[in-house]
Amino acid sequence: MPPQRGPRPRGRRPQRAPLPQPIPEPVAPVAVAETSTVVTLPKAMVVGDLARALDVSVVDVIRGLVNIGLMVSINESVDFDTATLVANELGIETRAEEETPEPVEEEAAPEPTSTKQVLWEDVDPAKLKERPPVVTVLGHVDHGKTSLLDAIRATNVTAREAGGITQHIGAYQIEHSGRKVTFLDTPGHEAFTAMRARGAQVTDVAVLVVAADDGVQPQTIEAISHIKAAQVPIVVALNKIDRPDANLDQVKAQLAEHGVTIEEYGGDTPLVPVSAKTKQGIDDLVETVLLVADVAELKADPGRPAIGRVIEAHLDKGRGPVATVLVQTGTLERGDLVVAGTTFGKVRAMVDDKGKNVGRAEPSRPVEILGLPEVPEAGDVMRVVADEKAARAVVAQNARERAAGAATERPATLDEMFAQVKEGQAKELKIVLKADVQGSLEAIKGALAKVPQPEVALSIIHDAVGDITESDLTLAAASNAVVIGFNTKMEAPARRVADSTKVDVRQYKVIYELLEDVEKALTGMLEPEMVESLLGHAEVIQIFTSGKTTIAGSRVVDGLVRRGAQARLLRGATAVYDGRIGTLRRMKDDAREVTAGLECGIVLENHNDVLVGDIIECYVVQPKPR
Ligand code: GDP
Repeated sequence: MPPQRGPRPRGRRPQRAPLPQPIPEPVAPVAVAETSTVVTLPKAMVVGDLARALDVSVVDVIRGLVNIGLMVSINESVDFDTATLVANELGIETRAEEETPEPVEEEAAPEPTSTKQVLWEDVDPAKLKERPPVVTVLGHVDHGKTSLLDAIRATNVTAREAGGITQHIGAYQIEHSGRKVTFLDTPGHEAFTAMRARGAQVTDVAVLVVAADDGVQPQTIEAISHIKAAQVPIVVALNKIDRPDANLDQVKAQLAEHGVTIEEYGGDTPLVPVSAKTKQGIDDLVETVLLVADVAELKADPGRPAIGRVIEAHLDKGRGPVATVLVQTGTLERGDLVVAGTTFGKVRAMVDDKGKNVGRAEPSRPVEILGLPEVPEAGDVMRVVADEKAARAVVAQNARERAAGAATERPATLDEMFAQVKEGQAKELKIVLKADVQGSLEAIKGALAKVPQPEVALSIIHDAVGDITESDLTLAAASNAVVIGFNTKMEAPARRVADSTKVDVRQYKVIYELLEDVEKALTGMLEPEMVESLLGHAEVIQIFTSGKTTIAGSRVVDGLVRRGAQARLLRGATAVYDGRIGTLRRMKDDAREVTAGLECGIVLENHNDVLVGDIIECYVVQPKPR
């Protein structure tokens, strides 16, 4: 049986916005020069570390970056490919650092990834055809998710397939009355939301399993929140109806209390009583899923090159890297050249969930693909490309996105909410709310309901009693929500997810303070966080003195320099000064700004130790951009 836990949500390790502080002393180099000309570099590194690794000055690195059209500050990160281009220009060969197991504490720190959505470029509505729905099964532990997946599979094996051996490849497809349905066979909301946090919303219909003899339980409530946040239609499978203590009406009422109103009660959620044990109701359940899928009008273009998602991947002893991909649009064919995350290769063979070799996979069809040189990550986009050149370009782009982290797609923070409110952009502040006891939880919910919401609606997407868990954080990350805890703890695993996903977690011990912060965010009164943003670099080409003042005759190499802006002086591998541009002159006149390509005279505030060849890095500190 596949593990129940989903792929760990991934993101780059927390990289705080660089502060305008003096540059730290040089740290141990990030790389080891193996010979005089081959240097081992990690997947991503900041410019300062790259300079140290290459044993050249920051100035040379920045110049190299400018030459390839990149404007990057000493504190910013570049990926391996970019670093290699710069190194090669300096006559240095590079080699990618091998993945070495990290110390235990670090091990769980997720890899940097891109969370970019698949771009459905070139969609031609005329070519769209119906595609099978993709279904995820969610619910409380022991309510029968796995049994139900097995029962559905067992009752829908066609005679033709009966000889095939069931393979657990992460998903399977059944055929029911001539129509296909795909089930992801890692049940549970952790996997569901972890994929979503990576931008991989693959589920079309969620089957919420509730045991008729046990009713709505904490993980049922969690699952409801996760499904609703993803805006996926629900079909309730009321399981274990064979049990003598099954109480269907009680469960229906409990569901209504938790915001799931079934059709029988006037809502729009279908409910199907089933028994995974006796197989009663299984056909009904599949038919209901198909009805819900019909309403959603799921379509894809089978005629185009395939785009899909990696849903599982591992290294197989005999077969090498194996990835299960779910084709989302297009048709994947044996022999296609595919990119998956940061690896690419020709599809050598495709195996379906019955262990059969197949030549093609249409939309919604899960298949294992062989032929990738490396193991991609669950959630990675898989796409067919025309040739190796295109493959390399897509891989480089994906690697850049990984190196850049999720910075631009980070979940909301209360501070950003404030700024968005001010600009009239924010419509909704989403909150995951946790509290130590039911009494506090109700009190806070009641009080939050009374917080004035002049322009922005407050939406509690999940609330529960208990500590802040990984599941809360993945939900918040996938939904752009803020996590608010009252008298709660956050254990190490959850803390790691918080760091990697950069979810804003606020913990309170006083209800009043909690309410005040939310109110401030909603009305735009929180002070925004300040971050650094690079303006440009100037290279010192000549030194003049006037009395005791050193004037740095400089040429702006990228971006611009601005009078009064902050500046650091880069020499060797470090910054020797961090202050301000006091005076800026162009052709003897005071200038406010001087742009790339032009020469100017710069006087650094309270600093006269400037040498030819130094680089002046000009930046500003401003409210964090959104
Ligand atoms: P999961 O944790 O949600 O995946 O639950 P499982 O599928 O592992 O089922 C938990 C337990 O409930 C197992 O002992 C199953 O045999 C049992 N179970 C599952 N479905 C039914 C059912 O419809 N009727 C009865 N009586 N037992 C069931």
